[in-house]
Amino acid sequence: MSDCLFCRIATGELPGDIVYEDEKMVVFRDIAPKAQVHLLAIPREHIESLNGLTEEHDALIAYMMRQLPVLAKAQGLESGFRTIINTGPGGGQVVFHLHIHLLGGTGLPGF
Ligand code: 5GP
Ligand code: ZN
Repeated sequence: MSDCLFCRIATGELPGDIVYEDEKMVVFRDIAPKAQVHLLAIPREHIESLNGLTEEHDALIAYMMRQLPVLAKAQGLESGFRTIINTGPGGGQVVFHLHIHLLGGTGLPGF
């Protein structure tokens, strides 16, 4: 049993509002949304952060990036969306399983 919160959501051990999943990635709603739409896209593989990436992850990361506009459109974000990846405590990362924030719709905070 993993002690990683997002691994446990990905396996279904903990509840999550999952909007998309396949063999490589899982996407679920953030529990404390910062905008009308706030999704978290994670790899199924436990990777701590961008700092944990190696060359072996190149195809996985490219795949995840390509899914983001598809996910955004499925959420009705026709005019665009924002993505954020926090890395390390200095970058504001709180959950140490790599995740891409996908935000959009009303309430999108300024940046
Ligand atoms: P970070 O600051 O690490 O980039 O973002 C972590 C995100 O995970 C935060 O936006 C936070 O609201 C979200 N989060 C924390 N715990 C949970 C949880 O148990 N379930 C879900 N769906 N999101 C969570
Ligand atoms: Zn994990």
